[in-house]
Amino acid sequence: MPIRHRTFLCGHRGRGKFCHRCQQEAEIRARVAAQRAAVHAEKQQWAQLFDHDLIDLRLLPRPELVTKARQIVREIHETNDYRLYKGKRLNHDRSIISVPLSHDYRILFQDRAGELVPLKVLSHEAYNTTKPGA
Ligand SMILES: [Zn+2]
Repeated sequence: MPIRHRTFLCGHRGRGKFCHRCQQEAEIRARVAAQRAAVHAEKQQWAQLFDHDLIDLRLLPRPELVTKARQIVREIHETNDYRLYKGKRLNHDRSIISVPLSHDYRILFQDRAGELVPLKVLSHEAYNTTKPGA
């Protein structure tokens, strides 16, 4: 029995009631669109997390630094123990504590009667230029 090919409306030729080639392409398009939507949703969720931070972490260049900063802020805020992360009081203002986040960034906390309140993230550069007399 000869295989009967026909031309579909799309212009492709093939067997069956519909064009399998077009269907396959449509499936791939749908998969790519779904992946794109998932990536977009993930990005949005990530962006929304910053709204809940006690200090602005958006200036940090890498996600792993943001995650680490969140952990440091949370733990120090909860425990009021800055030595956990090698924090040091500033010489010129003993109420301010500087906690290293990476080689380039540190997080400042203020000691308010024993409660350590996160102030902000500073780049190493900004940190050095905000020091009085520097
Ligand atoms: Zn087709």
